[in-house]
Amino acid sequence: MHPGVFRFDGNTRWVTENMTQEKLLADYLEYFRVSANIGYRPESGRENMKNAVVFRTNNGLPDEGYLLDVKNNVVRLEASSPSGFQYGMNTLMQLLPPEIYSSKWEKDIEWEVPAVTIKDYPRFSYRGFMLDVARKFMPKEHVLKIIDYLSLHKINYLHLHLVDDNGWRLEIKEYPELTDVGAWRADRYNYFSARQNPVDGEPTPVGGYYSQKDIRDIVAYAANKQIEVIPEIEMPAHTVSSLSAFPHLTCPVVEGPINVLPGIGGDLSSVIYCAGNDSVFSFLEDVIDEVTQLFPSEYIHIGGDEAWKDNWEKCPLCQNRIKEEGLEDEEALQAWFVNRIGDYIRSKGKKVMGWDELTNGKIPEGATILGWRGDGRHALKAADQGFPFIMSPAIPFYFIRYQGPQWFEPFTYFGNNTLRDVYNYEPSDDMNSGQFNLLKGVQACLWSEFIDDPEEAEYMIFPRLAAFSEVAWSNPENRYWDQFLPRLDHLTEIYDHLGVNYASKSMFNLFHSVRPLDGNLEIDLSCIRPDVDVRYTTDRDEPDASSTIYDAPFEVEDGEIVRAASFVGAERKGEILTLNLRYNKATGASVMSEEHNAGVLTNGLLGSEKLTDGEYVDLYNRGGEFVIDLGKKKSFSKVTFSFLNNYGRAVHLPSEIQVSVSENGRKYRLVVDRKLSEHERLSEGIKHEMVGFNLDQVNAQYVKILLKATGIMPEGHVLENDPGRIGFDEVRVE
Ligand SMILES: [Zn+2]
Repeated sequence: MHPGVFRFDGNTRWVTENMTQEKLLADYLEYFRVSANIGYRPESGRENMKNAVVFRTNNGLPDEGYLLDVKNNVVRLEASSPSGFQYGMNTLMQLLPPEIYSSKWEKDIEWEVPAVTIKDYPRFSYRGFMLDVARKFMPKEHVLKIIDYLSLHKINYLHLHLVDDNGWRLEIKEYPELTDVGAWRADRYNYFSARQNPVDGEPTPVGGYYSQKDIRDIVAYAANKQIEVIPEIEMPAHTVSSLSAFPHLTCPVVEGPINVLPGIGGDLSSVIYCAGNDSVFSFLEDVIDEVTQLFPSEYIHIGGDEAWKDNWEKCPLCQNRIKEEGLEDEEALQAWFVNRIGDYIRSKGKKVMGWDELTNGKIPEGATILGWRGDGRHALKAADQGFPFIMSPAIPFYFIRYQGPQWFEPFTYFGNNTLRDVYNYEPSDDMNSGQFNLLKGVQACLWSEFIDDPEEAEYMIFPRLAAFSEVAWSNPENRYWDQFLPRLDHLTEIYDHLGVNYASKSMFNLFHSVRPLDGNLEIDLSCIRPDVDVRYTTDRDEPDASSTIYDAPFEVEDGEIVRAASFVGAERKGEILTLNLRYNKATGASVMSEEHNAGVLTNGLLGSEKLTDGEYVDLYNRGGEFVIDLGKKKSFSKVTFSFLNNYGRAVHLPSEIQVSVSENGRKYRLVVDRKLSEHERLSEGIKHEMVGFNLDQVNAQYVKILLKATGIMPEGHVLENDPGRIGFDEVRVE
């Protein structure tokens, strides 16, 4: 035997104290059997074994904590709870070569663990992950696989978002219509928010749900991995699915038909439960009765987010309720609604959990609040009233957002939450000690609007869940981004063996910024990993291990194209970034504007089809004015503007474009005044729109561009009544 290592072999014994430990150990032993060809040699009670892994209960250790002591002849694992033994086993597995997770016999590996003593316990008792199975139904088998992976990351709560406008996913015996009708929607596969509502009677082939047996299987499977499954039954909003089965449960002012939504749903998304109708409460109480039977969790999550009150304002029943209960307004009516349900849930011996909109009114007794909006700080309002809370801020814990440079990522919503953003988040920032004492933990969420299959879900979750799990587990003084990366690289090898479809390149892909600078372009490249070399070319060749190393912003000249990638040694790690710079008379010109990033208009670079990729001036519900300074008088006869059109986000052409020119920057002459009709500007789909104007030969130094807002979306638009936005990305002058 080597000093300083413990080596597993065919004679290694596993010494457990009881059946619970044995059951927990079984999953790990299966890996040893398959990849190391080491069979199970059980032993009990013999503490002084050599060549053994010895489990020992130690009630002096904190709950979920463990003590792992590896010596060259014995491994001791001590814990006070099954969770502690499990997390200790996880650590032991991660000290072994990653091939231990292989699905085939890895013959040539020495199964050695370095001699170490690790005493470890989690910072937070709540380490949660939310899976949205309502937007996109995920089959039971996939949920079980996700549970395996959660366990690998020491996550101890799985929050299932079971109900939304796009589907009701839980069998309720009392109301079979909930899944017969509510679990199925019309066939649409375009960009989520651009999906038109179904017409009445349209077939509903897309969907699925969990039978009560499925749920029992999921709950039991998770419990064996020390994970508690929390059900979320949304109310009073995000439940068009149940209302399509039981339309009488919405306000009588709602004009039908109500069908399960394939997308956001426009005005239909404000169809919610009627707060003035007592049948709503008897229905929800029946549902909760079955939910409490199915889920042993101490929590029932009742949603509570994004409840638009348009119908409550018009509904005589709701208005009557406000009067009878002496409530101030519709916001107070929602508080009354969730308190009534909260009381019922408490009467069942359970606790209420809900999104941070519950802090808009009286918070239900004993509730735990999940802070999600923006930076999650709405939850502090709950803490200030003595309620426990969990930080689940959309930034950076909503894994629906992009995890890397958007040019390389699949289409989704909004901006970026990179792996580094997740890792560097510290929930206690700007929190006082009273608030911090009520912080139970943190939660990451995967919303599934843009997920089409389980592999896509894995891509969005991993490896960001690894960064999240360190935030949940470790104290900030032990978290360093550069020290995390080698651990992550080891973990991704485990992912490879387990077959996890993780995002292997996003963390290596390059962010770029191309800025006009005195008539030239300045290129800035960056990678969230500091442990790579960024290399580039300007002659259109593919970058390789001998290309120039990027160490500071550099300028390019007319005609040059930048290609770049990250390398570790000779190995290229990410995608090749190609900056297809298209030079014209405005390229590199400075832009005067109130818009902070107006330089993108003259950087020679067209954006992708993603509004948030960094290449667009995003004008939400407004127009804009831009003055391009060509540096000196130039003669030209054409100006062309490039815009984005994304119907589902109401990104459209402006309602009017004016162009004026000037020789001196003081006196301008109008050369273009073009109004665009609704028909011209509100097109469907996602695409670039080039709008060009031929001019009589002009000789000028300044070009002033005035864009007028695209306006409020008209009736029939998928986002009707919402303000539109303009995505402006490039000006060409020729
Ligand atoms: Zn009503």
